[in-house]
Amino acid sequence: MTTDFTATRALFDLPRGITYLDGNSLGPLPRAAAARVAQTITGEWGEMLIRGWNSAGWMEMPSRIGNRIGRLIGAEPYSVVMGDTLSIKVYQALASALEMTGRKTILSDSGNFPSDLYMAQGLCQSLGPDYHLKVVEPEQVEAAIDNHLGVLMLTEVDYRTGRRHDMARLISRAHAAGALVVWDLAHSAGAFPVHLARDGADFAVGCSYKYLNSGPGGPAFIYVAPRHQDRARPALSGWLGHEAPFAFDRDYRPGAGVERMRVGTPPILQLAALDAALDVWDQVDLDDLRFRSLILQDRFIQRVEASCPELTLATPRDTTQRGSQVSFHHPQGYAVMQALIAEGVIGDFRAPDILRFGITPLYIGEAEIDHAAEVLARILHGRLWDRAEFKTRARVT
Ligand SMILES: *Cc1c(COP(=O)(O)O)cnc(C)c1O
Repeated sequence: MTTDFTATRALFDLPRGITYLDGNSLGPLPRAAAARVAQTITGEWGEMLIRGWNSAGWMEMPSRIGNRIGRLIGAEPYSVVMGDTLSIKVYQALASALEMTGRKTILSDSGNFPSDLYMAQGLCQSLGPDYHLKVVEPEQVEAAIDNHLGVLMLTEVDYRTGRRHDMARLISRAHAAGALVVWDLAHSAGAFPVHLARDGADFAVGCSYKYLNSGPGGPAFIYVAPRHQDRARPALSGWLGHEAPFAFDRDYRPGAGVERMRVGTPPILQLAALDAALDVWDQVDLDDLRFRSLILQDRFIQRVEASCPELTLATPRDTTQRGSQVSFHHPQGYAVMQALIAEGVIGDFRAPDILRFGITPLYIGEAEIDHAAEVLARILHGRLWDRAEFKTRARVT
């Protein structure tokens, strides 16, 4: 196993004096991204104008780049396509999956991200009074799978605690009950190896601006298993998911394969940034990345627990049940995080009381882990967080 990630660290532009432990929320700027986007703006948009759709391959970008992400999540070729935001992709996957089962119940857990639950609620409401979303505690999911279940919709890694579900096991339990599964890989893609094809996944979605570093507002991805692609009816029947968009037919006919999950015009500048960001992954072995992430996570947990008795670990100790973040509870979590950020150590806060730290071996190592733990201990011991300026909530936490 390689533990040396100095080569990948050199591919990122991190500001001096900052220890960045929030790459699970917004990945940092890959050095190559700025030049790539500039080239797309001046060399392609500026020079080619509308000809860029053909000459610069803009129209193929959602599937070409989808394939690059597919490699990172163990997907079959041509089973992933880019576009829209993750919330939209959740809706699409859920709507198609539910219709395919002919059933009316969606099951999720209370650790899921609110937008995923909101999308499921909205979908049920438009489908009718018989449809409903059932939400149970993460530990109760397996027991709640029964023969009425239509779709199990889960985010593999809990955005607050970092608790990770057993994907292969839950897929086989759901399939045995005649249900389909939609996985949200927001905190999985680029965080550790994912094996969609091997584990028999049906649908999956995820974003590109967290561990994959595409920049704020980067497009999401959707995976549809090859066996489902030609049966999955797109709920958002946009023209670029049509079989022949430029035939301008009056009636919708879904396109072939996963491309039917495209909706409208793709965000070319964001896709250019993502394309450059994905070059970093060409030299990364995901098993090495996982190995390294767990070493750094354990180091952080050990140091923080040794020096900060005020904090309680929110992340499971069992490494098989972890993603790539470490979280702690503190009753004044928001203020503590603001004090940390003021000292140049950036993590984030999630209500009600979670201090969250993303562990991203591509660009952080032992030195950052040790520094972050030291500063955290200093802030807690000196109660440096106990100031009015650290307690006023900003719009984004
Ligand atoms: C980050 C995240 C989102 C965000 O969705 P957007 O539409 O990209 O804003 C949704 N779901 C999960 C599980 C997330 O982690």
